[in-house]
Amino acid sequence: MPAVRLSPALKTLKPSATLAAAAKAKALKAQGVTVYDFTLGEPDFTTPEHIQQAAMAAMKAGHTHYTAAGGIVELKQAVCRYYEREYGLKFDSPQVLISNGAKHSIHNVITTLCGPGDEVIIPTPYWVSYSELVALTGATPVLVPTTEASGFVMSAEQFAAAVTPYTRLLMLNSPCNPTGTAYSAAQLEAIARVAVEKKVPVLADEIYEKLIYTGSQFRCFASFGKDVADLTILVSGVSKAYAMTGWRIGWTVGPAEIIKAMDNLQSQETSNPCSISQYAAIAALDGPQESVEAMRVEFEKRRNYVMGRLEAMRSKYGITFAQPGGAFYAFFNVSASFGKNLGGGKVVHNATEFCTALLEQAHVALVTGDAFGAPGYVRLSFATSLDILETGLNRIEAFLAGV
Ligand SMILES: *Cc1c(COP(=O)(O)O)cnc(C)c1O
Repeated sequence: MPAVRLSPALKTLKPSATLAAAAKAKALKAQGVTVYDFTLGEPDFTTPEHIQQAAMAAMKAGHTHYTAAGGIVELKQAVCRYYEREYGLKFDSPQVLISNGAKHSIHNVITTLCGPGDEVIIPTPYWVSYSELVALTGATPVLVPTTEASGFVMSAEQFAAAVTPYTRLLMLNSPCNPTGTAYSAAQLEAIARVAVEKKVPVLADEIYEKLIYTGSQFRCFASFGKDVADLTILVSGVSKAYAMTGWRIGWTVGPAEIIKAMDNLQSQETSNPCSISQYAAIAALDGPQESVEAMRVEFEKRRNYVMGRLEAMRSKYGITFAQPGGAFYAFFNVSASFGKNLGGGKVVHNATEFCTALLEQAHVALVTGDAFGAPGYVRLSFATSLDILETGLNRIEAFLAGV
């Protein structure tokens, strides 16, 4: 019997596939190879200057100590002002918990609500961490498949059919990573009605709420009436809208009893999120918002460029995809290339092999759809410059052409 033994839960826990794909690309870069890396799920912009200044001012003002475990009340109030200003929704600070990024917020929600024997409904394709974090609690992820034809939207009927007496939570991500799907208000409301009728709490991961493209709208899940808001747990944060991934500030907004339980959990696990980042987040939420829109416009240009290129590849190589309404990912099906001669004479049989071969042959890094519960698909993040996108897409096209 070895002295060090992993717990059963950790033995089966997989590392984050997106971070693993990024690590592979980094390893190749370290060998001096130029890699066109489209794995990363973060804005390439720098954090706006006024937010950086607020962080420096916070340090100088001595805000370098522990704060309340669940975050400073000033930031909680800023989050409440944000929801009122943006969506006309009224919350009080006891309904807000500040955590170390929205990923931490999601972990808090799942750990607080779920355990062995419980079921959590997750539409697929889903963000890599969802099913792993559910499984870590001993609960069972119940995956509801969606199709490209429906724009990767889970219908209210599909949701209703997946509910059992053991259902404890629905995890809904709109706009969605990896598909870019932005649910319409009508689609969300239909799901909300089922949630109320069947008494299923909803974790609404709205981290991409500010990254919505022409033709799509964002609608906050808590905005369909009090009965819906009473079972909604909103998760969002500053990472994507304000280009603040490294600062690690996310939040949960929901019924005060759940927030209190999560605060207890967080007080035992991590204590407060970074004090300086919390002050920076206040500046992000309360300060000028022009940079948010400027980044969105830039993302939309890239999205349109990528869609044009993929459209051209659709007829030539049989790749298929749905248009992303939000977020910054193109999610496309490459299964028509399986079994064919690709660049360097490589032959692949699934999306994971496709990504490995593409990286080795063309030095382009994508994330396999297998990681998101979507076999045959790959994810390309367009959170990078148009120049890099152009070269990378040229290389993908050459690879598909067998060059
Ligand atoms: C990026 C992302 C998050 C979390 O981001 P944090 O940096 O932890 O705030 C949560 N959900 C989805 C779907 C994401 O893509």
